Amino acid sequence: MPYVITRLCTNDGACVEVCPVACIHTRPGAPQFYIDPDVCIDCEQCEIVCPVDAIFKDEDVPAEYADSIDANASFFRQNKAVVGPVIFETAWQMVHRAHAYARSVGIAVAVAVVDEAGTPIAVGRMDGAPPRTTELAVSKAYTAAAFHLATADLASQARQPWLRSLLVAHRGRLLPAAGGLVIFEGITIIGAIGVAGGSATDQDVLCCQAAFSVLETGGH
Ligand code: SF4
Ligand code: SF4
Repeated sequence: MPYVITRLCTNDGACVEVCPVACIHTRPGAPQFYIDPDVCIDCEQCEIVCPVDAIFKDEDVPAEYADSIDANASFFRQNKAVVGPVIFETAWQMVHRAHAYARSVGIAVAVAVVDEAGTPIAVGRMDGAPPRTTELAVSKAYTAAAFHLATADLASQARQPWLRSLLVAHRGRLLPAAGGLVIFEGITIIGAIGVAGGSATDQDVLCCQAAFSVLETGGH
């Protein structure tokens, strides 16, 4: 059961900061923030931090704010672009761009680009990168896609009970370690990228960021 933001919202954005799956959005001129019911994982963090008690679990929304349930859902129906996943050519260019960066700093990495469901589109392991890095890169990309969040942000929450339960439920596919980034088009997630093999975790992140230059040059 997802959470819902009601008309009581004062637009201060505090809940956005704590949402682990980045599913709280608004747009310029909108009267409030909204929660995407298809993405919310019911972790309760937003409800805890809201200074005006504007957030409720959908089954607990007071009768006078019942219309907010549809208002939250319809915001995303109207504003989420209908776009497909990262196309293969773009994904492949991103893999190569990340490899090029890795080569320039003297490391060998594996890179995976997945669709919004976490299914691999393009995966490439450089010569010299250990075999295991392929699986780690896919897991980081899968994790970023599943949580709609950079895996470095998730790493800091790895001890939270809600996350530990999810790690078990996903049978080892989730990897909350730095080196996975979400690929957005507007507010729509179209995929994610994961990198593994850097000798320091920030090297994996820098390889991901290098790959994003493909998108800036209109590669999708
Ligand atoms: S924390 Fe509460 S008041 Fe602030 S943006 Fe979120 S719902 Fe609105
Ligand atoms: S309950 Fe958790 S996942 Fe859902 S909107 Fe609030 S912070 Fe995000």
